[in-house]
Amino acid sequence: MSQTEISPIDTSNAGARLVAVQDHIARSAALAGRRGADVTLIAISKTVAAEGIVPLLEAGQRVFGENRVQEAEAKWPALRAAWPDVTLHLVGQLQSNKAADAVALFDAIHGVDRSSLVQALGKAMAAAGRRPDCFLQVNIGAEEQKGGCAIADLPALLAEGRAAGLPIVGLMAVPPAGVESAPYFALLAKLAKAHGLPRLSMGMSGDYETAVLLGATEVRIGAALFGSRG
Ligand SMILES: *Cc1c(COP(=O)(O)O)cnc(C)c1O
Repeated sequence: MSQTEISPIDTSNAGARLVAVQDHIARSAALAGRRGADVTLIAISKTVAAEGIVPLLEAGQRVFGENRVQEAEAKWPALRAAWPDVTLHLVGQLQSNKAADAVALFDAIHGVDRSSLVQALGKAMAAAGRRPDCFLQVNIGAEEQKGGCAIADLPALLAEGRAAGLPIVGLMAVPPAGVESAPYFALLAKLAKAHGLPRLSMGMSGDYETAVLLGATEVRIGAALFGSRG
């Protein structure tokens, strides 16, 4: 094949960006002896208007994530009317007084990190008869400002969540910015394994390949699909 036959990926196009990210996931999964299909790509569409999301839906993406309940309520009912097979994940911090709204709208909730929220979600799920998958968020780098429960508090929070009837499927974390993520991903994977939790929500645009190598089952990717939020 001559040089001119190799066409570079057109990264201005949502469909091409999606294919590129899927390809990177598949390669990392293969390196780790896993299948690309075992990793769920969550397209994080926070701050992206509905018309910016449509090209990705048209390209076949069906799993999306938002970090604010109100923003998701404004955008997704209309999009879901047109694409009913969409799965929606909440990846941001959740206030307890929004628990019922979150349970009504989302298929998975990634930011479960404290007792008051566990109790609010348990009540909301019982009332709604709807049980979105829950990920316990761990403050994996023990950072002051960041959401997530302390590693030491994880066993108690897990027990409380199970007692409250939450379907806890895995752990989620956002490692510290500006340092290598791999040790934090490895630590999260170890904690999940120790507690018998099968799923790991870890990896963003800058580090998802590393996350897949270390066992991520859901990667949360915004900028690499939609462009930087500026
Ligand atoms: C915004 C966000 C992401 C996506 O980050 P990118 O760097 O744009 O890929 C992932 N997870 C959480 C919790 C987020 O808030």
